[in-house]
Amino acid sequence: MTSTARRLAEIRGGGAPRRHNARTTAALTGNPGCDRRAVLDSAGADKPGLAERVGFPARFGQSRFAITRGNAFEALVKADGGAELLRLVAERLGVDSTGPATWTDLGAEDRGDPPDATAQFGRAARSRAALAAAAPVGADDPAALFDHPLLGLDVAGQRVHLEPDLVAARLAGRFHVVEIKSFPVIDGQADPGKVAAAAIQSAVYVLALRELLAAEGHDAALVSSDVVLVCPRDFANRPVASLVDVRKQLLVLRRQLDRMARVDDLLARLPADFTADPSTDPERLRRSLTSVPARYAPDCLAACELAYFCRHETRAETAALGRPVREALGGVATVAEVLALAAGSDPGAPGQAEAAALLRAAARLRADALAGQPA
Ligand code: SF4
Repeated sequence: MTSTARRLAEIRGGGAPRRHNARTTAALTGNPGCDRRAVLDSAGADKPGLAERVGFPARFGQSRFAITRGNAFEALVKADGGAELLRLVAERLGVDSTGPATWTDLGAEDRGDPPDATAQFGRAARSRAALAAAAPVGADDPAALFDHPLLGLDVAGQRVHLEPDLVAARLAGRFHVVEIKSFPVIDGQADPGKVAAAAIQSAVYVLALRELLAAEGHDAALVSSDVVLVCPRDFANRPVASLVDVRKQLLVLRRQLDRMARVDDLLARLPADFTADPSTDPERLRRSLTSVPARYAPDCLAACELAYFCRHETRAETAALGRPVREALGGVATVAEVLALAAGSDPGAPGQAEAAALLRAAARLRADALAGQPA
């Protein structure tokens, strides 16, 4: 064990590191400037356990109903050997889908629940061989769809297993990751937050697929950065496909994974007694967590298990209210300063004149509204 690995093991209390999956890997990009998160994720710390121990348990996860609905939609879309899915994807990419096509279910041999490590290893090897063999060689190559592939990516020294919904190969001469999501596209528009989450998760798959092909001697650029998102149209179950360009997400992801690979830099800045062992006394654990700088933003609520703890910690700071508020207040760091400027009891520093005037106007409007008078 290297000294870095030993230090990371000490930090998490000696237990096995928590394994990342596609969702948690994608979430790493949610707040790339946060040292606290980078240290905890690099160590594979039990963040849900930590949040619980310090009195701010995480509150996210998909409902059973949403999972069932998502599985039913995916089965519908993949029915008939993926014929309708191929038509949808090909149409979106602007290529002909009437020629011969193959459908390969790479998970057909290991339907264990959950699949054991040997089965996973077998599926990863099958996926690697099948996808590498499918690298496009000519314009007349038949389309090939791969269901249940298992890809891998190194995240902070751990091998993470990733399962994209589908990989389409040899369509328009490229590989395309296909993600099937159950959130609706209504009048051509989907929830931007859900699309953004799907885009970053798809970028994780694109990166893993590029690394797989590169390791097999192929050009990683064969994997398109345009992923195909398949969702129900309006409130029916009819699928509709959209293209999402994930180049930006790939850059952010690569940067964050590189940062985690250089975890020694982060460890050098930690206090010697820093711990993220969930069995530690809660008060000591709180002190330990707050000894590492964090950058709380409202987006953390959907992406990091420590969000309620960090929000509580920053409750007196304007940064906790999100970037629009932070930018509007330009340099007014605390809620107490905001209230003093709004009340006029503090004239503010020279650089705060504009924010102070806005706050006083807002306070007047609020007072008028509460008094029931027109502004
Ligand atoms: S919740 Fe806290 S630890 Fe997690 S990313 Fe946000 S600021 Fe960092």
